[in-house]
This record gives sequence, structure tokens and C-alpha cells, in this order.
Amino acid sequence: MKIYKSHEMKEFSNMKVGGSAKELIVIEEKSEIVEALKGRDKVFLIGNGTNTLLSDEFMDVSFISLKNLKKVEDLGDGLVRAEAGIDFDDFIEYMKENDYSGLENLAGIPGSLGGLVYMNGGAYGTEIFDCIEEVEIVDENHEIRTLKRDEIHFTYRKTEIQQKKWIVLSTTFKFQKGYDEARVEELKEKRGGNHPLDLPNLGSTFKNPEGHYSARLIIEAGMQGKRVGGAQISMVHPNFIVNHGDAKASDIKELIAEVKKEVKKHSGIDLEEEIIVVGE
Ligand SMILES: Cc1cc2nc3c(=O)[nH]c(=O)nc-3n(C[C@H](O)[C@H](O)[C@H](O)COP(=O)(O)OP(=O)(O)OC[C@H]3O[C@@H](n4cnc5c(N)ncnc54)[C@H](O)[C@@H]3O)c2cc1C
Repeated sequence: MKIYKSHEMKEFSNMKVGGSAKELIVIEEKSEIVEALKGRDKVFLIGNGTNTLLSDEFMDVSFISLKNLKKVEDLGDGLVRAEAGIDFDDFIEYMKENDYSGLENLAGIPGSLGGLVYMNGGAYGTEIFDCIEEVEIVDENHEIRTLKRDEIHFTYRKTEIQQKKWIVLSTTFKFQKGYDEARVEELKEKRGGNHPLDLPNLGSTFKNPEGHYSARLIIEAGMQGKRVGGAQISMVHPNFIVNHGDAKASDIKELIAEVKKEVKKHSGIDLEEEIIVVGE
């Protein structure tokens, strides 16, 4: 493993904001993870940082990256095991090359595979857990274990992996044959049109409250386009916050607080963040 002390973390968040951290540990071999966790209590596993806001101030945190663990193995019978650090885009490319079907609806999500499994990410009616057979994790006692899908509790954008702060090392999927290329192209185009992909962002800022869409609630509260410093509620998609280049994490936090306050005032509904904030 490689350890970088006092590391600048801005480039590790898709929002392109954030201060420096106590250390960044880049894991090269799966077996190193247990060693990396030993004696460190404030640890944060960073994937592609597409859902994570890093604070402006120094973060007294050991960030761990699995970005070099990205092996994919075909186990036969439609079973495929992939390591957690692989870009989800590259995993979709693997499915295309090997004619596997099941996760096309998730194409275009910019996270790592581990990040998606951690929060049961999904899109257009499909969740990543739909195709999961088993997940290899590091548990709270720093033991590496493999759990079958039905041994893990999961719901909409929530998993036991999150609750128990487990680390995803690899995931085994069960796929059908018949990659649907037309569907992937259609959805990529749709995302290009609906999302402000030209500016740094973290995807959906808030979860959809049951029976509601956060985007609609934000429009109805008159908050679309609202700006604090370099951060703005996107004019393209009101559940996205974009960074015009000079935003600070504090601008984004202030904007989030204002949106929550105005939506509550207007509709009585409490929005809950989907993004994760490191450091306060
Ligand atoms: C333009 C855009 C569009 C998006 N569209 C969608 C969408 O349609 N659907 C959707 O669900 N999400 C979407 N997202 C959000 C984001 O891409 C997903 O949540 C993704 O799963 C995050 O992965 P990541 O590797 O970037 O995670 P990070 O932001 O790095 O981390 C997020 C959380 O996952 C944890 N984590 C990451 N890797 C691991 C691991 N190996 N083991 C344990 N914990 C881990 C981190 O500790 C952190 O708590 C979008 C984001 C953007 C920017």
C-alpha cells in the first residue's frame, strides 16, 4: 500500500472542493486492507467521490482508496466477480464485451462499483442488488467475510453495509446473456440532457421523500437557480448542486440548509441528504 501524509483531497470529490486530510492510503493488494485498518479509528473509504462532499478545513481522517482493486473474473454460468475499485462505467463496458445483461439501467452512473453496492445505487427501476449473488466485505471486527445476498439487509438506497460501516472488497453478480446496447445508449443520451454534466456536481443532493420528488419540491419552494458563493441549485436539474469553479464546501452546506428550510416552510416536508459530508 502507499501512504500519502497531509494529502490534498479536492480531486477526490467530483464536486472538486475540499481541504487536506491527515493521510490517504492507496491499497494495492486486497490483503493489505486489514493492515491499513489496524490502529486507525477515523477512516473513510473513498470511491470515485461522486456522492461525497469534502469539507474545506483540514480533515483528521485516514482516507482509504481501493481504486487499484479492479479485477473482473468470469466464474461461468453467468456469474461474474468484480473488485470494488472498478469504475462502474468500465464494468458496463465489460458486460458489453461479454454480452451480459441486467444492469443496463444503471449505465452512466459515475461511481465505483463498491460505492454503488454500499448504498444499493440504482436508476430507472433497477437497483444494483437486483443482480447480486454475494458480497465480499471487511466487517466491523476487520474480518474478511463473504455474504450471500439474502444475508444482507437492503432497501431503497440503504444497506446493512452502510449501517455497520463494512467495506466492500468485491461483488459476485448473476447475469443473463443479451446486453442491451440500445438501452444503454438511450439512457446515456437522457442523462446528458437531464443532468448538468458540464460542471462539477454530486448527483442528487436529496433523497426523494416517499410519494414526492425532491426536484419538484425544490422548484415549488422557489429555490431553483439559488446561488451561494460559487455553488448553485442547477437550472438543468434542481436536485443537483453545481460548482461554478470557485465554490467552497461551506457555500454548498449553506445552500443545502437554505433549501431544506424553504422546502419545509413551503410543503412541510423534511428533505434528507443523499450526499455524504466528510468533516464538519
Ligand atoms: C452526475 C451524477 C449522476 C448520478 N446518478 C446516480 C443515479 O442515477 N443513481 C444513483 O444511485 N446514484 C447516482 N449518483 C451518485 C453516485 O454516483 C453513486 O451514489 C455512487 O454509488 C457513488 O459511488 P462512489 O464510488 O463515487 O462513492 P463515494 O462518493 O466515493 O462514496 C460514497 C459512499 O460510499 C462509500 N463507499 C465507497 N466505496 C466503498 C466500498 N468499496 N466499501 C464501502 N463503502 C464504500 C463511501 O465511504 C461513502 O460513504 C450520481 C452522481 C453523479 C455525480
